[in-house]
Amino acid sequence: MEADTLSFVPAHAIPEFLLGEIQAKLAYVDEWIVSAQVQPGQIILRLRQAPTPERSLEIEQKVQRVVTSMARGAIRPRAEVLEDVLDRPVPYRSDPMDALLERHEVSQEAPGLFTVGPLLSRLIGFFEGIFLDLADSFEAPPYRFPTLIPASYLERVNYFRAFPHSLTFATHLREDLDVIDHFAQHAHCKHGELSAPPDSFARVQALLSPAVCYHLYFALADRPLPGGRLAATAVGNCFRYEAINLVSLERLWNFTMREIIFVGPKEYVLENRETARQRMRRALEQVGLAYRVESANDPFFIGEFRKQAAFQSAFQLKFEIRARLPFKDSTLAVGSYNYHQDFFGRSLNITLPDGSPAHTGCVAFGLERMAFAFLAQYGLDPEAWPDFVRQNAA
Ligand code: AMP
Ligand code: ZN
Repeated sequence: MEADTLSFVPAHAIPEFLLGEIQAKLAYVDEWIVSAQVQPGQIILRLRQAPTPERSLEIEQKVQRVVTSMARGAIRPRAEVLEDVLDRPVPYRSDPMDALLERHEVSQEAPGLFTVGPLLSRLIGFFEGIFLDLADSFEAPPYRFPTLIPASYLERVNYFRAFPHSLTFATHLREDLDVIDHFAQHAHCKHGELSAPPDSFARVQALLSPAVCYHLYFALADRPLPGGRLAATAVGNCFRYEAINLVSLERLWNFTMREIIFVGPKEYVLENRETARQRMRRALEQVGLAYRVESANDPFFIGEFRKQAAFQSAFQLKFEIRARLPFKDSTLAVGSYNYHQDFFGRSLNITLPDGSPAHTGCVAFGLERMAFAFLAQYGLDPEAWPDFVRQNAA
């Protein structure tokens, strides 16, 4: 074993269905962890440097805490597949990231931050056209939301408890001449990190928004829902810090999400979610995407994971469109169909005409991932793309 590798047996046997979830969480366990490999009977960590016996023990104990709280008594989620064209033949087998970087179609600014060039931008514009047609089919008018979201908003919908690991905070210099002068004279970057006294920064009032639909729910908060039902659409920058998992266009710190959002009675939300799925099914057929729609859960943090993931699964609250990535023989979530029951209606006091809390749901697409998955299946040469895409996106 290499000196910078740590390997041990998990405190609980890890069921197959939790391997990926636990592996993803290990990114947040200790700053020394560079990569993690989780098998049912063994965990292998690669560390930044060779650990002392004390550090080894400390890291192992933290990892075991994750394993115990996520795996002990875990209930296998109800796996349901609603659409399956994963085996649709597609011509490309390589990782498009290599060719995209080589052709300067993509350039990396920092982990999780990418500039995309004309090829991907046009492809994203093409998918946006599909999503806007879908929004039009529900007569969902457009909204625009800020990129920042108040801390108090996220607190009110329990976000700090559910997803603390992926938050991104916004701050500014304190309104103090000495602080600002000092910063102007001395601030500098070392290894990509800004060096300045921590007390230069104001307390956090806002974060970078992790999702789009929350803004709409807050705009509707604390009053009766006009007309008793509402459909809306918006696109926005979203931020989820995903630590060492931020390696390619597959997983970004800053990405763009298009959402179509439904607010109203339970049946209205569920029927529209289903109609949206049926309409998208036809669109994805034209695109030629190889994918599957299956039940899923959100990546809740360790303490909330077991309870909330089981709840989402039992009540069929989330389905994901998972596109095939032939180069790694796996799938990637490119969109989701979500139903929140009356969680936002209750938390934010959005009421229906009969006084009951509104139900909400959203259909959400990750634009960069949609385009990335398409390129992973069809390659960068438009000549090899299905006609419908070539005519509209090339
Ligand atoms: P969710 O609200 O988690 O279902 O996210 C909706 C969609 O946003 C996902 O299906 C992805 O396509 C996209 N998405 C979520 N997280 C990321 C990320 N870190 N990088 C790129 N796209 C993402
Ligand atoms: Zn949403």
